[in-house]
Amino acid sequence: MVRLSAITPSGQVQLGNYLGAVRQWAVDGGEEDIYFISDLHAMTTSHNPSRLRALTREQLAVVIASGVDPRSVSVQSDLVRELGALTWVLECTCTYGEAARMVQFKEKSVGRSSVRLSLLTYPVLMASDILLQGAHEVPVGDDQKQHVELARALARRFNGTYGEVFAVPRAVVPPTGARVRDLADPTRKMDKTAKDAAGTVFVLDPPDLVRRKIRRAVTDDRAEVRYAPEEQPGVANLLEILSACTGKEPQELAGAHATYDDLKEVVAEAVVEELRPIRERTRELLDDPAELDRVRAHGAERTRDRCRHRLDAALRVSGLG
Ligand code: ATP
Ligand code: MG
Repeated sequence: MVRLSAITPSGQVQLGNYLGAVRQWAVDGGEEDIYFISDLHAMTTSHNPSRLRALTREQLAVVIASGVDPRSVSVQSDLVRELGALTWVLECTCTYGEAARMVQFKEKSVGRSSVRLSLLTYPVLMASDILLQGAHEVPVGDDQKQHVELARALARRFNGTYGEVFAVPRAVVPPTGARVRDLADPTRKMDKTAKDAAGTVFVLDPPDLVRRKIRRAVTDDRAEVRYAPEEQPGVANLLEILSACTGKEPQELAGAHATYDDLKEVVAEAVVEELRPIRERTRELLDDPAELDRVRAHGAERTRDRCRHRLDAALRVSGLG
């Protein structure tokens, strides 16, 4: 059973990425799984080349520092030739209507005067990521489920039309409380690309900045610490973050704090302590380029070896070569 999941270097790793995804990769993952930095996906909106390269390296360091098995980690663009080849074949398997239906495309393109074509087609590249590696399970947040459904549909259609080449993957949505919301606007999820970073805790933020952001988190004027996600989304978000850090239930935690200020102090300290070892280990890794280069080179070789026969078969049965 091979799991595959990714993080896009469109910005710095935020608390939601860590609690909802990366931390789980460290718990569930093993050498046979595939966790990668999806730098190709980061090019679907306006990007700066040197910043992209730096963020890719930084995310690689954060993922390893979080305890993910380094043997399972890679960088997407180290496979750009293989992915490019399969993406073409899968684009010839996908209809325009299917791509245009993707909710994330609609959300990310709305109100923009100029939208890169790759923003429309990147779910097909994501299908290539998954199918090329023969992944069975793809842990994703709700926001990415539709893309995994597309990968399933393309795998089935390809296999049915040309011959059995691909495993049909399925999305697995991590269970509880893994949706961290923006501290300044708890109706939205925390995002590494939010326009205003006041509501985003980054994994590498210094402790005092983490404390400040949490103290300023938007709550409400009920002055009552209750776990009620619908009526009190800001307070519920703080309780869920604390729950993710302590392993205790949000309802139970709600009873233990009298005021919003009390709650915020406790959440701030819990988050600072949760992130401290990761921040320190990331710094060490970034100061030791040889180690990161080694992990990356191993990941490139491993994912290339894994995909070669599948790519050759896909090209052959579809009439190429
Ligand atoms: P972007 O704005 O570029 O989409 P993002 O913060 O949504 O950034 P992704 O790279 O899209 O990050 O997602 C990486 C992983 O983190 C995915 O598994 C995604 O489901 C998860 N994730 C993202 N945001 C949150 C969040 N707020 N809470 C929990 N998990 C999250
Ligand atoms: Mg996202």
